[in-house]
Amino acid sequence: MQLSQITPVEKLLNTKEIAFYHDILSRPLVAEITKAEVTHYRQKVIEQGIAIDTNELIHTIVLALKKQSSQRLQRVINATGIIVHTNLGRSPIPQTIWQEASETVCGYSNLEFNLNNGKRGNRMGMLSKILSTYFGGESNILVNNNAAAMHLILKTFAQGKEVIVSRGEQVQIGGGFRIPEILEESGAVLRDVGTTNITTLDDYLKAINENTAMVLVVHQSNYYIEGFSQRVDINLLAAKLPEHVMLVVDQGSGNQIAGIPGEPTVANYLKAGVDLVCLSGDKMVGGPQAGIILGKQQFIEPLSKHPMMRVFRPGKETYALLEKLLIHRLNHDCAANNRIETLITQPIEWHQERAQQIASIAPEKLPLVATKFLIGGGTTPRAQYDTWAIAILSDESPSSLIKRLRNHNPPIIGVVQQDQVLIYPITLFDEELTIVKEFLSELI
Ligand SMILES: *Cc1c(COP(=O)(O)O)cnc(C)c1O
Repeated sequence: MQLSQITPVEKLLNTKEIAFYHDILSRPLVAEITKAEVTHYRQKVIEQGIAIDTNELIHTIVLALKKQSSQRLQRVINATGIIVHTNLGRSPIPQTIWQEASETVCGYSNLEFNLNNGKRGNRMGMLSKILSTYFGGESNILVNNNAAAMHLILKTFAQGKEVIVSRGEQVQIGGGFRIPEILEESGAVLRDVGTTNITTLDDYLKAINENTAMVLVVHQSNYYIEGFSQRVDINLLAAKLPEHVMLVVDQGSGNQIAGIPGEPTVANYLKAGVDLVCLSGDKMVGGPQAGIILGKQQFIEPLSKHPMMRVFRPGKETYALLEKLLIHRLNHDCAANNRIETLITQPIEWHQERAQQIASIAPEKLPLVATKFLIGGGTTPRAQYDTWAIAILSDESPSSLIKRLRNHNPPIIGVVQQDQVLIYPITLFDEELTIVKEFLSELI
């Protein structure tokens, strides 16, 4: 038996090919994977009596390390044409904002310390003022995400009470966030009214009794009803509800851009006089993951004092990033432009030029395709905007081609549409155009 000829793990770890992964995976994890592969190899030698080949062994180990390292959290190139892509980390945070926030985050901060009187302070600090200035609303509070915001609102105001929701708004958003389930989980009782396509003011009013805590209006997010359908105007609803019934809106997207079809702005709801609105910080706001609750002080106050607030409160990074982002936004600094607003207002020539920049390397193999891009993030399904994508013509099957894109470093995430692999330049950052271009020149 020649098993002793197998290179020892310690020595393998220091070979150039394997040592490359120390920084990526950590030394102990590389050692663990290497050991497992050596054990495997040893078994193979015993069972099949093959000659020991160190290069083959190293190759096998490197494959296993590669597989592991593709699971690490890393930058990818979004070529899907969906700006806020829930699977790709939603909103990219502007570099400037990240750098400015790092000053606060990497040192100690006054997160819960009042510098005016030297006493314990409030996490919301100045952010509360900035949020009011940006969105409107008397008061506000921040939680970890919008699902947490919904849960906290229901738990605080509707435990053991009835919550009226239109049948057309009992939606499921993305991975398992279902309105009826979150209601049940928080101890509220769902009272559904209207029909899938039509809910009237009367439907709401007739369902109200003394145990009604609130009317919950949910943004339909990822779908819409076409044809014969009707929802109640929010101004009307706000005006007609009796004193003891709160009006809460799960706005979801955080949209502040006027004129997007089927997508009211957060400010619209606040102006209508709703009691509370909640939204995500990392959809159309373009900030860190957070749930932002805005509205009347008398309702924000009990939320901030609820024991569950301790469970849902974000870390300092979130407060710092959001505060910096919104200050730049309020000052119209281009460093913090709303990326969605910038992209949906580009003329179609801009889209075409961008696509041509890439396709020019081989126009016959990279034809331009007129198509639509989406804002995404479970928002604005009705708002689809014209753009140009690039199709990759190849003998390779679309599924194998899309995988090849994914295996690139950094991974390029394209889409397969009508049996073609498409690259959407619209969602690429400028510096990524070159990366994609280089990849395609090699491919062709
Ligand atoms: C996205 C969304 C949610 C969930 O928000 P998260 O921030 O992902 O927790 C809830 N409600 C609506 C209407 C949404 O669009």
